[in-house]
Parts: sequence; C-alpha cells; structure tokens
Amino acid sequence: MTDERELLRRTAEIAADYLESLGERPVFPTAPVEELAAALGGPLPEEPADPLAVVEALARDADPGVVATAGPRYFGYVTGGTLPATVAADWLTAAWDQCAGLGVLGPSAAVVEEVVGDWLKELLGLPAGASFALTTGCQMAHVTALAAARQEVLARAGWDVRERGLAGSPPIAVLVGRRRHVTVDRALRLLGIGAAQLVVVPDDGRGRMDAAELRGALAGREGPTIVCAQAGEVNTGAYDPLPEIAEAAREAGAWLHVDGAFGLWAAASPRLRHLLAGAERADSWASDAHKWLNVPYDCGLVFCAHPAAHHAAMTMHAAYFEGQGRWLRDAVDWTPESSRRARAFTVYAALRSLGRRGVAELVERCCDLAQRFAAGVSALPGCELLNEVVINQVLFRFADDETTSAVLARVQGSGEAWMGGTEWDGRAAIRLSVSGWRTREPDIDRTVAAFERALAAVSGSG
Ligand SMILES: *Cc1c(COP(=O)(O)O)cnc(C)c1O
Repeated sequence: MTDERELLRRTAEIAADYLESLGERPVFPTAPVEELAAALGGPLPEEPADPLAVVEALARDADPGVVATAGPRYFGYVTGGTLPATVAADWLTAAWDQCAGLGVLGPSAAVVEEVVGDWLKELLGLPAGASFALTTGCQMAHVTALAAARQEVLARAGWDVRERGLAGSPPIAVLVGRRRHVTVDRALRLLGIGAAQLVVVPDDGRGRMDAAELRGALAGREGPTIVCAQAGEVNTGAYDPLPEIAEAAREAGAWLHVDGAFGLWAAASPRLRHLLAGAERADSWASDAHKWLNVPYDCGLVFCAHPAAHHAAMTMHAAYFEGQGRWLRDAVDWTPESSRRARAFTVYAALRSLGRRGVAELVERCCDLAQRFAAGVSALPGCELLNEVVINQVLFRFADDETTSAVLARVQGSGEAWMGGTEWDGRAAIRLSVSGWRTREPDIDRTVAAFERALAAVSGSG
C-alpha cells in the first residue's frame, strides 16, 4: 500500500498538472459518454486496491470527460472557477473532515463560519445584524430564506407554522417576477407553496420586474405576503428595480426576498454598487460563493434580516447535541442540513487571498470582459445583442434560429470555448457569462474569433 504522504503528494501533482492544462486543453471534452462509462464502470470491485492506484486510475479515466469549467474560456451557465487558495483550503477541509453542523464537532469551523458571515455582510452591503448561513448553493439558500419568510409572515398572522404546518393556515400570497430563477419555484414548492399559488409579475421587456405591475398586484392585498425580487437575471444580468420594489413591499407589509446568486457581488465593486441600491432594505438575500467568488463547489450563502425567524425556521434540538460546551454557532440552527461540510474554510481563503480590493477587481474585470466580448461579437454579420450588458452576462443571437444554433454548436464543438444556448422571447439565443478569475482579454478575443470562424463556416455551407 502506498504511504499516505506519498499518495497526497502524487495527487497534488495530478491536480497541478490538470490546472496547468486549463489554458489549452479543449474546453469541452470530446469523449463520448459510452466511452467514459466503459472506462469508469464495470462490476463492483470485490477486493481492496492500493489508494494511489485508485486515484491514478480515476484521474486517467475521468480526465477525458472533465469539462474545463475552471478554465479561462468556459462561459456556460454562471460558473466561477477556483482561486488557488480555495482549492488548497478545500483539500485541507477534506483532510480535517470537520462535521460543521455543531460547534463541538469543529470549533474552528464554527468560528470561521461566523467570521466569513461578518465579512460578507460588510462586503455585500447587507445589515450587520443579519443572520447568516452557508448552504450547498443558492437553491438551498432560497429554501432557508423562504422558510424564514414563511415562518415570519404566518407568525404575524397569528399562526405558528412549526406547530401547525400549512394545513388550514392563512394563505400566503407569493409574488414573483416573470424572469425569476427556477430555483425560487422549487424552494417554494418544497415549502408547500405550489405553482398555481404564485402571482407572476410581468417584466419590463428588459428582464426586470415591472415595479408598477408589482404595486398593482400588491394593492388591496392583506395577510401574509412574500415578494421575490432578483438582482442579476440569469441570462441578461438585469437587476429588478429594487428601490421601488422595496418601497412597495414595505407599504404592503410584505417580506422581500432577493435572489442575488451572482448579482449580489456587484455590491463589492464601488463602480457597480449602485445596481444594488435598495437591496439593503430586503428581509432576506440568497447568493452563491461558488459562482462569482470563485470557490469550489458547493457553497451558497443566505442572509436574513430577522434572525429570530431564521432561527425558528431551522433550529432543531436533540439531547445528544446539548450540554457539550458553548460555541459561537451551531450551524444546524441556521441551515436545513445536519451533518455538513465545513465550507466556510474556502470562503475564508477566497476573502483573505483577494481582500476587498481583489474581489472588486475580479467582479469589475469580468464585467469589462463581458463588454469586450459584446463589442466583438456584435460586429459580426447578423449578430444581435439581446441585453444591455450591465454586468457579466451577454445574450445574443444571429440572423435566424437555425444560424444561431448552428454557430453555437460549432463553437461548442471547437473546444476553443464553451457557452450555452437558451430561448429568449421565443427565439434561439446564446448566453455567455464571464465569471472566472482566469479569463483575460486574449481569451475573449479567441472566443470572438471562434464565433467569426463558426459563422463563416455556417454561412458558407448554407
Ligand atoms: C445559479 C442561480 C441560482 C441557483 O444557484 P445554485 O447555486 O445552482 O443552487 C439561483 N438564482 C440565480 C439568479 C442563479 O444564477
């Protein structure tokens, strides 16, 4: 059996080789899934194997199916890379293997979680008194925040949802924007609020909630009400008009939740902070560290201006949890999880390695690069920009759906860059997100050139 130190050393070499290959390896792998399945599959092993042999075989067999999402020309979805300090901190997190549900299982994990919570509130312009938790992602941040919202709006109506559940409760009106993220719907569904119960507020044609429509939908409404607004629409990066929404929600006595999965990070930039004016008046916020902060998956963030409601919605007790000393925090009281990874260590590493200035530079650079891409691609024949590039998202299409899809497929297949397609107002579109710290101007120029070649090939063959 390989000695443990040797195993870790060798694994570090494999990982470093991979990271060094990111700039030039094909962004999207070419191996067919059947090949991957054949290489990685087979019968359940009967016998033990040497750990180094296991890791080497895994690295060899998985490599052809690994997408270079951490690399400089991956622009799909909204996908951050991994800052060097965060990868290293993530290894330590695994080596320490702290169960970060209870303080007694890892006092340093609990302290670091508290520290990053305070740092993040300051960085993102959120109230210092807000409660905070780290979740797997923005999806579970929504679940946590909206559970707190449900708890609070029902409590104000004299109903304790913890005791009595939703059967027979006063109805909760939930107002959401037409361009909301799908994870909001699923969070609400898990909390007992179904699709037919949602009041969908139209958008203004530019991806933002129409505040006048929201006002109209809130008018005359009484009883428990939740409004879900968005800072950073997933295709366009558009920000809902938060000052107007916050005002309307306040007048209606509604709980305001803000989905800022990536868009909340604009608050870290003095240049872009204005986009979040009004966000500080919300009741809860959901975001991600694994997108724009560039920590490894998985890491979501939730903040709540009503710590008592947040705590009431999530806390749980067991005799065997209690009486083992006092800790800064027991995360089981603030998240829907029990045993959990000590994901604060990577966030801590990111914030310490970048500092306030580094986070602002990362965010601003991504936005500048998105502008550079938008300028380059929109100069190509037949290309139409579909959004105002407010942050790091670019949405565009070519002359018709056929051309758009064919050009995208060629760029994806080229291995030069990868971004996804979507449908926008009934037509095929391409969405590009600049979220990784490794991306620089030459990467943008290479990507524009890949589009130019693809368009020429598609036009020539058409
Ligand atoms: C990515 C995203 C989510 C979901 O986040 P996960 O981290 O995937 O759970 C929610 N809202 C918006 C706007 C997003 O971009």
